[in-house]
Amino acid sequence: MRIVLLGPPGCGKGTQAARLVAREGILHLSTGDLLRAAVAAGSELGRQAKPLMDAGRLVPDDLVIGLVKERIARPDAAQGFLLDGFPRTLTQADALDAALGAHGVEAVVYFVLGDEEIVRRSLGRGRTDDTEPVIRERLRVYRAQTQPLVARYRGKGLLEEVDATGTVDEVEILTKAALARRLAGGRVR
Ligand code: AMP
Repeated sequence: MRIVLLGPPGCGKGTQAARLVAREGILHLSTGDLLRAAVAAGSELGRQAKPLMDAGRLVPDDLVIGLVKERIARPDAAQGFLLDGFPRTLTQADALDAALGAHGVEAVVYFVLGDEEIVRRSLGRGRTDDTEPVIRERLRVYRAQTQPLVARYRGKGLLEEVDATGTVDEVEILTKAALARRLAGGRVR
C-alpha cells in the first residue's frame, strides 16, 4: 500500500496517519517528524531546516526529497508506506513519481477543513511552531505551494476526499471508507 495523506497543516493528517499505520502495519513517513528529529539531533539538515520551520515556511525541495528517497529505499518500506506531509510541492510530487517508477502512489486521501477550524486546532496542539502568525503563514504557503497537488492527483484519478470536520473517530471511519474504495477499485482494474 502506497498512500499519500494530503491536506492543510493542522487538519489532523498526523493523527489519522498514526491510526492507519497501527492498523495496516505499514511505514509511517512524516517529513515533519524527520525534520524535527534532525533539529533535535543538531545535524546540518536540522540547522538549515529550523529557521524555516519556525517561520512556517517550507524546507527546500532538494533537502526534503533526499530525506524521503533515502527512507523509501530501505527494506522496511517494501511492504508499503504512508506519506504524511510529503509531497508539499509539485517538484516533490514529480520526484516521488520518479523515485517510485512503476510502483507509484495508489491512493491520495485529501482532508478538507476550513482555515478557522485549523487555527483553533493547531493552537491546541502546543507545538513550538504553532503560534497564530506561524499557523497563518503555513496556511498561506499551503494554498500557494501545496494546493495545486489536489488537481494533479485528481487528474490522475487517485484522489479521495475526506471531510475532516468531525471527531478523530468519525474522520477515521471516513478515511477507512475512502481507502477501501480506492484500493478495491485499483485491484479490479
Ligand atoms: P508538519 O509536521 O508536516 O506540519 O511539518 C512541520 C514543518 O516541517 C513544516 O511547516 C515545514 O517547515 C517542514 N516540512 C515538513 N514537510 C515538508 C515538506 N514536504 N517540504 C518542505 N517542508 C516541509
